Amino acid sequence: MTSVIRDTIDRLLDRVNAISDVGPGFTRPSYSRLESQAHDVIVEEAEALGLEVSRDAGLNLFARLPGRDRSAPAIYIGSHLDTVSMGGAYDGQAGVSGAMALAAAFVKSGEQPPADIVVTVTRAEESVWFPVSYAGSRAALGRLTAPELQAKRSDTGRTLYDHIKEEGGRPDEILTGPGLAPARFIELHIEQGTVLDNAKEPFGIVSGVRGGLRYREARIDGTWAHSGGPARSERVDAVFALADLIVGMDRRWEETLARSQDLAVTFGRVDAASSEHAFAKVPGRVDFCVDLRSDTVSVLDELDGLFKAEIDKIEKARGVRFDLGAQSRSQPTKLSATLGDQIAGGAAQLGYSPRRMLSGGGHDAAAFAQAGWDSVMVFLRNWNGSHNPDEGMDPADLAAAVEVLHAAIRDGGKGGGY
Ligand SMILES: [Zn+2]
Repeated sequence: MTSVIRDTIDRLLDRVNAISDVGPGFTRPSYSRLESQAHDVIVEEAEALGLEVSRDAGLNLFARLPGRDRSAPAIYIGSHLDTVSMGGAYDGQAGVSGAMALAAAFVKSGEQPPADIVVTVTRAEESVWFPVSYAGSRAALGRLTAPELQAKRSDTGRTLYDHIKEEGGRPDEILTGPGLAPARFIELHIEQGTVLDNAKEPFGIVSGVRGGLRYREARIDGTWAHSGGPARSERVDAVFALADLIVGMDRRWEETLARSQDLAVTFGRVDAASSEHAFAKVPGRVDFCVDLRSDTVSVLDELDGLFKAEIDKIEKARGVRFDLGAQSRSQPTKLSATLGDQIAGGAAQLGYSPRRMLSGGGHDAAAFAQAGWDSVMVFLRNWNGSHNPDEGMDPADLAAAVEVLHAAIRDGGKGGGY
């Protein structure tokens, strides 16, 4: 059993990661040919296992292993195969490989699971390509909207609608279809943080996913001038204004943490690198983005208010003008304690006692939970963070987590309840 799980994980990670745009790292944009080719690898492997393969209108992939009780809510398990530009070898791929390894463990042992297991490969999880959270899984759940289908991909400038169609999907049907009926969803995913690695723990159970509030295309307009010309009081310097904003938000962040509230503040892009800028010029423009994350909606709302108050103050003090552009959000989400307990039951059988933890990054599991599913995540220890070519993970940790899921599902009822 252990070797089936480990072999499946190793082979699928290799096969999927062989498909990438030029490095460093791995690049498979959302709804690109490369993402489709990675899905084709899973189709081939799933068919070899005898699973029933289907794709929905948004090209999410499902590979079903029938369970003993066909009327019990199915256990969907998986993750995504798109990556950020120059991402790592595990963000997404690990969960898909783990889900296939779980299905393989049942098939090879000849044991039918108590309920259907559906290996699930979502599309377009990485919202760096389209400014839409969980586009693929929300399409599967019947929750993607017509305006969202008009969102443009950051590299091609073409719409989500066009890219879905180009890869063989049916974007119009996404809007009319009922979406999947609520069942159970489990996502295996690398942690993207240091908690498990520091604690030397192979995996943990995720109890909630932080939400985000973003301004992706914000800018500050000041006045271009000779750097030696105007007096300090006459300058309308866009870069100094942004510096004020960053320092101000860092203080608000510190104050929020001091009140024991969850928050992360990131200015992920600061762009004063155009040919207009030069050492001898007072900067007349700077572009930036900001990403606020918290496990609580009211904290995000409060911080958005404080952010705008800082901006008011800076505009008055420095004479610059801010244009924040559109705001996008993802909702903080609680995951299923029931499923978490059931997985903890499987872990206990194998001698593990995984911690419960929050996810700082957004994941498809949140979209499933928001659609009324019993949805949970298992985090895998990783190092060097994620969304970069040095992303690290030990496949043995993933194999251990898959064995835990296998035990939890197989022994339905005993400390599990599947
Ligand atoms: Zn991911």
